[in-house]
Amino acid sequence: MTSAHSIPKHKKAKALKSSSPRPAKELCSECGLCDTYYIHYVKEACAFLNQQIAELEQQAHGGSRNLDSEDDLYFGVHQNMMAARKKQPIPGAQWTGIVSTIACEMLERGIVEGVVCVQNTKEDRFQPMPIVARTPEEVLAARVNKPTLSPNLSVLEQIEHSGMKRLLAIGVGCQIQALRSVQDKLGLEKLYVLGTPCVDNVTRAGLQKFLETTSKSPDTVVHYEFMQDFKVHFKHEDGSVEKVPFFGLNTKKLKDVFAPSCLSCFDYVNSLADLVVGYMGAPFGWQWIVVRNDTGQEMLDLVMDKLDTEPVMSRGDRHQAVQQSIPAYEKGVTLPMWAAKLMGVAIEKIGPKGLEYARFSIDSHFTRNYLYVKRHHPEKLEAHVPEFAKRIVSQYKLPEV
Ligand code: FAD
Repeated sequence: MTSAHSIPKHKKAKALKSSSPRPAKELCSECGLCDTYYIHYVKEACAFLNQQIAELEQQAHGGSRNLDSEDDLYFGVHQNMMAARKKQPIPGAQWTGIVSTIACEMLERGIVEGVVCVQNTKEDRFQPMPIVARTPEEVLAARVNKPTLSPNLSVLEQIEHSGMKRLLAIGVGCQIQALRSVQDKLGLEKLYVLGTPCVDNVTRAGLQKFLETTSKSPDTVVHYEFMQDFKVHFKHEDGSVEKVPFFGLNTKKLKDVFAPSCLSCFDYVNSLADLVVGYMGAPFGWQWIVVRNDTGQEMLDLVMDKLDTEPVMSRGDRHQAVQQSIPAYEKGVTLPMWAAKLMGVAIEKIGPKGLEYARFSIDSHFTRNYLYVKRHHPEKLEAHVPEFAKRIVSQYKLPEV
């Protein structure tokens, strides 16, 4: 029999119901930790209560980023970066399905016993439903982004109860920071972490508002992405693609759509994952891969024969475009559609490409988020904004708030 003394402290803690207030309050990104008894660790683990990227980089990668290297400053600790795409893309995946392919391969080869990933509910293609997948079929059913806050860590108790020893977790930055903080408590022998970059996420209600404000046919959207050609691409049920230029978005209406957690986030590039698969540092049509450590390389090696790869490239200069976008966003400027399209064409021709596009996106979001935190949570500014983000933001002239 287990005595009260032998029960780990976290197991005595009660999980919060989804309707309960969250310790991070309005900054909660609903990562799912507080739905489990690991809520006991929330004060240290939550990305919005305790920013600790540098310390966790040390723990996960054996060193934190070198702030004097531009690539480290922007993209985090890494051994290698490349552009890649599946020779045979997975139909219905967000891009070419590199994430799902790695996860399937790890299950099939018995490298892991389970994969934390997120399917959608039967009723709603965008309503996230985190699971621990045990088969490649379950992983494939989780393909494509659910562009909403997703409580991926709500399955953590299941992992400990199942006795699973080798696990792959797929997730975005806030989920991965909390996971890294509690990973030693899960009873695992080996944890693999496959991350995606993430920015501008929304609640399910926020997503509806975004779709209704921006797409001509919000109910038929199956997938969307803010693309490197400075347009949002909406893919519809009938396979058609609707493109809306960034500069034509109704910034005034959309200002409050993004979750406050995402407006306060500085971990766009998922600093703590072993391997990151996104798109923004790669040419259009390609995915962008960042290998952070040996574990990440081991994961990538499993699928290299299924990929075409190219070295990363970088072209253009983002600085002026970022500087000009700061007051435009602050004032909620929306261009008429003809002007937005024209601007889109011009910027696509001469605008930043490859890694420079990724830096453009990071700079634009970090300056916006820095101003958001300064305005809404000034008491948190100093500790919450990581040193690398302060350096990035300091390149720009910001309005007084
Ligand atoms: P797939 O094989 O289709 O697999 C997608 C995986 O994502 C699935 O395993 C699923 O479990 C997981 N997933 C889906 N939704 C969520 C969610 N809400 N939270 C956690 N995990 C989820 N890349 C960039 O380069 N720049 C960006 O700005 C950017 N923003 C993103 C925003 C969100 C909310 C998400 C989820 C991803 C974002 N990405 C971004 C990553 C990119 O869109 C692709 O997910 C990535 O390139 C993998 O594509 P794939 O075809 O290999 O994925």
